[in-house]
This record gives sequence, C-alpha cells and structure tokens, in this order.
Amino acid sequence: MTAPARPRGSEELIRAEEPVLAHNYHPLPVVVARAEGCWVEDVEGRRYLDLLAGYSALNFGHRHPALVEAAHRQLDRLTLTSRAFHNDRLAGFAERLAALTGTDMVLPMNTGAEAVESAVKVARKWAYDVKGVPDGRATIVVAADNFHGRTTTIVSFSTDETARSGFGPFTPGFRIVPYNDLAALESAVDETTAAVLIEPVQGEAGVIVPDDGYLTGVRELTRRAGCLFVADEIQSGLGRTGHTLAVEHESVRPDVVLLGKALGGGIVPVSAVVGRREVLGVLHPGEHGSTFGGNPLAAAVGTAVVELLETGEYQRRAAELAPVLRDGLRALTGRGVVGFRSRGLWAGVDVDPALGTGREISERLMREGVLVKDTHGSTIRLAPPLTITRGELEGALGTLEKVLTA
Ligand SMILES: *Cc1c(COP(=O)(O)O)cnc(C)c1O
Repeated sequence: MTAPARPRGSEELIRAEEPVLAHNYHPLPVVVARAEGCWVEDVEGRRYLDLLAGYSALNFGHRHPALVEAAHRQLDRLTLTSRAFHNDRLAGFAERLAALTGTDMVLPMNTGAEAVESAVKVARKWAYDVKGVPDGRATIVVAADNFHGRTTTIVSFSTDETARSGFGPFTPGFRIVPYNDLAALESAVDETTAAVLIEPVQGEAGVIVPDDGYLTGVRELTRRAGCLFVADEIQSGLGRTGHTLAVEHESVRPDVVLLGKALGGGIVPVSAVVGRREVLGVLHPGEHGSTFGGNPLAAAVGTAVVELLETGEYQRRAAELAPVLRDGLRALTGRGVVGFRSRGLWAGVDVDPALGTGREISERLMREGVLVKDTHGSTIRLAPPLTITRGELEGALGTLEKVLTA
C-alpha cells in the first residue's frame, strides 16, 4: 500500500518543474493554486492581487461567474464536433462577434498566433485573388518591435533577436518599418503589398501608444495604396483600452481585426479573425482550417464574453479607472518611475534602473502581494482585470510606491 501523496509546497513544485518542463519561460516564483476575480492564492494560501491578468486573457477576472456558468452548461451538453459537422453554438457566436466588432465575417481559431497566421494567409490570398499581385510576390508590411506570436512565420518578422535566433530559415515576404512612422510606412508599401499588419498599441514592447493620428494615417494610406489594414487587437482589444477595440480611439475601421486572449474568458483558448466579406470570403472549403477552431465549448464561452462586452460595462470601467492609473503613475514619476505610457487600464512603466531590473521590481511587488510582469530591461507592465475596483487599484499603486521608495 502506498501512502497518499503528500501535497507539495510552492518551493518543491518549482524545483520539480526544472527537470521536466522545457525552460522557455522564467516565471516569478509564485505557484498559484486558486483564483477568483482579481485575486489569486498560492499553494500556501498567500493572496496576491493580479495586475497582469494573463496578458489580458483575464480581462473579466478569474472565473467570472457568467463565463464559468456558460462553460459548465456547455460541458454538460456538447464540447467538440470538429468543423466536419455544424454545431449549434457557432452561428450565434459568429453573428454576435461580428456585430460587436462592426464587421461581417468571422474565422474562428484558437490561439492568437493562429489568428495572426490565418490573417497572413488571408491577406496573401486576397492579394492574389482580388488585388492581382503576381503569384508568390505578395508582401506584408509590419512594425519593428512588434509582438504577434511565436510560430516560425511570425518570428520571421519579429525584431526581437531572442525570439528569432536559432529558429531560421525564416518565411520571406515581410517588410519591417519603424512603428509610429507614417513616412516609413508609405515608402515600404507598393503594388505587391497585401496588408499592413500592426498592433494599435504595442503591448509586449512596453505598452507603446502611437501618436494621435497614426492609426488614421495607416487607414488612409492603406486605402490609397489598395492594401488591407490588419489590426492585431489580441492584447489591446475587448475592453482593455476603454473601448471594445483600441482602434476606436481614432474611430478607425481596419479591414481585418485579430482577436484572442480575452475572447476565451480566461477559460479556453479562443481567437478569431474578423473582417469584411470581400476579404474573408477569399477562403474556400479545404483551404484553411483548425480541428478545434469554433468548437462548441469555445463558442459558448466566446458568446458569453461577447455578451459581457455588449453591456459596455467593462469598456466603461477601463475608461473610468484609466485616470486613476495614469494619475497614480504620474505621481510616482521622479520617485522611482522614470517614464510611463498608458491607455485605458493598461500601462508600461519604466522604473529607474538604479532601483533594479523589471524582474527585481516584479519580485519585490510579488513579496508585497501584487503580481506584475516585466517586459524589457526596467519596464514593468500593468494590465489589471477590468473588474478591479478603484480601491484595489489604488492599493496596488500604493504597493508600487512602497516598493519604489523603500
Ligand atoms: C499574445 C499576443 C499574440 C499571440 O497570442 P498567443 O495566444 O500567445 O498565440 C499575438 N499578438 C499579440 C498582440 C499578442 O499580445
């Protein structure tokens, strides 16, 4: 008879990962065991305020009751059919997501990277079938310091050497221009250009917010050049910036929008390419697909996410709390913060390097019960669940002040 397994503590679990888990991440030393709303609890029962929110995959907090209920209900009925058959949840999901984002058609996928890959394929096919670019010549213009995912094709147009190095040969057909630079974009676009693919706010780069007029400029330029404007809203979309989509800050309508992360409600991976019928209509049966894309569980959770966003409550909360975040960071500028950028409930904060790396600051915040993630160098990123209260946000800013001014 074997003794029942003794539950392992955080330190032991972290040590146990080392020999069996690929080392492609360097997580903070916290082992989360349960969570609710904005709060997570580790194996020892210590509580932390989650100011990362799964890189915006948890915009509605952990285990939002409406989302968990939608998942439970669907688990008891039907979870997977593959697209070989129809399922009774997919039409409603696509209709409501298209309506929410003001467009016609939805291509359901699973992860963000798959949505980006799908958009690359759709843009190229559109270039050949509709625009008349000679076969094999289509180009896609992207921005430096982008983050669009981790597949071989996507890292082909990354400028982050850590993400690329050792993974070639790379997919050709991409041109990289500086972000927030319309003149550079203009000179890179020509008759071979299928699309311009950018993030309306560059998340992983450190929440880089472009100048006012940039997104409008991209829209006008792509329209003039007869190529597609593809906005990667996988992190910026679905409420984060105070609007359903970050492009709404300039009332811009891209041809194609990529969604992911929060679309799965923090429960299942759900992504989508949404766009006009003239564009997504280039796909015919057999040309693209995914075994799990549009599965009934994903569609049920995704529909519940869309229902939350239809109320406008989460976008409003992000907009209302934006000044609390911004003013709090402004008050810390010169007191440990050397600069920051924010939009909605989202901020990239450059900490004085003399105080430590972003990683060290993140570890100190963790010990004080606040979870964030560093990006590059001494930058930390704040992206709390949109369900956070004003008091919780102020408390977290107080903890940041304490850590920076200790
Ligand atoms: C996270 C992210 C992706 C990739 O999504 P995955 O689900 O991790 O594949 C793509 N684009 C942006 C802007 C992202 O933030």
